[in-house]
Parts: sequence; C-alpha cells; structure tokens
Amino acid sequence: MNDNYGRKINYLRVSLTDKCNLKCIYCMPAEENEKEFLKSNMSYEENCNIIKAAASIGIGKIRFTGGEPLLYKDIIKLIEFTSKISSIKDISITTNGMLLYDMAEELKRAGLKRVNISLDSLNPEKFKKITRGGDVNKVFESIEKCLSIGLEPVKINTVIMRGINDDEIDDFINLTKDNPISVRFIELMPIGEGRKIYKESFISSEEVLSRYSNLIPIETDKSSTAALYKLNGAKGNIGFITPMSCKFCSDCNRIRLTSAGTLKPCLHSETEISVKEYTDKDTIILDKIKEAIYKKPSEHKIIEEGKSNSKKMMYQVGG
Ligand code: SAM
Ligand code: SF4
Repeated sequence: MNDNYGRKINYLRVSLTDKCNLKCIYCMPAEENEKEFLKSNMSYEENCNIIKAAASIGIGKIRFTGGEPLLYKDIIKLIEFTSKISSIKDISITTNGMLLYDMAEELKRAGLKRVNISLDSLNPEKFKKITRGGDVNKVFESIEKCLSIGLEPVKINTVIMRGINDDEIDDFINLTKDNPISVRFIELMPIGEGRKIYKESFISSEEVLSRYSNLIPIETDKSSTAALYKLNGAKGNIGFITPMSCKFCSDCNRIRLTSAGTLKPCLHSETEISVKEYTDKDTIILDKIKEAIYKKPSEHKIIEEGKSNSKKMMYQVGG
C-alpha cells in the first residue's frame, strides 16, 4: 500500500518487549527507577493478528526487535506463524546477541531468514562499559554460530560515538576482510539516553568516511537505509546508516508496532495509533494500519529540532 507521498509501505518492525538484558549507555537508563517500562507486552495472539492484517495490505517484510526480542517468550512460535504467511518473504531480528548462540538453530528452523546483531566494541572491557555489563564473547560466539548455520547475511550494527569507540572503526572495517558480514555504522541519535551524550559523542558518517579513502562504494537498493562500501577483495561490506546527517525519509518503506501495542508511522514523530484494544477485530486493525500508513510524515524533524519527538524510548520502539 502507498502512503500520501507515494512511498510503498511494505515493512513492519515489531518491538516485542521493552525489557532488555543489557543497558547500553545511549539507550537504557542505568537506574531501574528511571525506566519507563510497560506492565505487559502484546500477547502472541495480538501480535499474530496484527501481522496477518498487515500482510493482507502488502507488508512483506517483518523485523522483530525490542528491547531484546529474544527475551519474548513466544518468539519462536511467532516466527513460525509469520513464516507460514506466504506473502511475507523476509523475517529478520535485531538482537544484542547475548542469547542468540543457544537459540540460533531453533530460530532458523522456525523460519528466521537473517539477523542484525548490535556490537559497539570488540574490546571486552569497553563492551562491558558501553552495555553496562555485557560479555562480548557471547556476541562473537553468536556471530560465528549464525555464519556456520547459514543464517545470513549477518549484519553488525555499530553506533559510532566520538571518544568512546571511534578508535575501533579500523578494527570493525577489518572484520569484513575475511568474513561475509556487513558492518553498519550508525549515527548516534538524540533519543532516549542518547540525548545525554549526543552533543559530545555524535560523529557523522561523512566524517568517518572521510578518514577512509580505501572504501569503495557499491550499489545499494533504493529502500536500503545504508550506503554500502567495501574494501578491495573483502568478503563482507561496510554500511553507513545516516539517520541524522542524511535523512532517508523519502525512501522510507516502514511502519512500527511498539511493545505497548501502538502503531508508529515514523520513529521520531509523536503520533501513535493504539491497536492493542482492537486486536480481536480484524476490520478495525486493518483501518488502524491504514491510518498509520496515511499519517506517515514526509520526513522527520530530528535535525532541525535537535531531538526526537518520539514519546517512546528506543527500547520500546526498537531500532
Ligand atoms: N536489543 C536489540 C539490539 O540492541 O540489537 C534490539 C533493540 S535496540 C533498541 C535496536 C538498535 O537501536 C540497536 O542497534 C541500537 O544500537 C540502536 N539504538 C538504540 N538507541 C540508539 C540511539 N540513541 N542512537 C542510535 N542507535 C540507537
Ligand atoms: Fe538493550 Fe538493545 Fe537498548 Fe542495548 S540497544 S539497551 S541491547 S535494547
């Protein structure tokens, strides 16, 4: 289905839970009492009904995210359900990789096609600091497991932050030499905890790119949020995701379902359309999904306004 600006909307991102087993410094508050958590998330049946309705009006791609999607108890069942909808061709997850090693095979059997794994440092101590307690070796094991069972392509999401991990850009780029992975550098956004460190830590993709004249541009799909590059002869590639410096709104093809059961036409706008109370009424769900598509703004104003207008945190909406 097309939105008011002629964009074909075929992608739904589903945040399954706002809970997480990490507390990344740009996403999750350190203190429990600062968190805005839900009392409950959407049930398996509620998520299924929305996904089925979305598929009926042209959504062919689903990404499960969070919070940490692998903490959602029905994730396997939900992927199995989604994979049986013939018009849905692409099912992926974005995960921090902590639980992925043990779940990868079952996820693949259920119908998961590919994974994005967040990884902001290759250094165990620094990783622990950024995630406030995470074990980087678990992420490495998960990446290897996904590659070994063909859960590909494996994409690594890395938020580059000045003075925090920008000294590791080389190491991340070098990972792509011998491994068929895509490392995607993401610009820090002033949303959630990101607001607190944005001023001193934001670094544009343009600045990162200017440091590496050896990166060769490669052709990118129009709806892709990443501009792709590679090292000569490398097995993998490097993507730059530039939500701040170079908006990709004009090619945006997605809507989002939050863990609170609201549809968000745009990550950064305050508009939300509640569907949770209608999830047993097929025609109303359809109307709500259409409303979310029609309410997609032409673009977000995060650059002009210096902040996101989202009322939800990243861990409630998902990245
Ligand atoms: N827990 C999973 C993970 O970390 O992959 C999925 C949810 S997390 C909210 C999804 C993505 O959002 C991660 O890649 C994370 O780095 C990104 N993210 C969170 N807050 C951000 C911010 N302020 N700026 C840029 N990216 C952010
Ligand atoms: Fe958790 Fe992902 Fe947020 Fe990190 S970025 S705190 S892993 S939801």
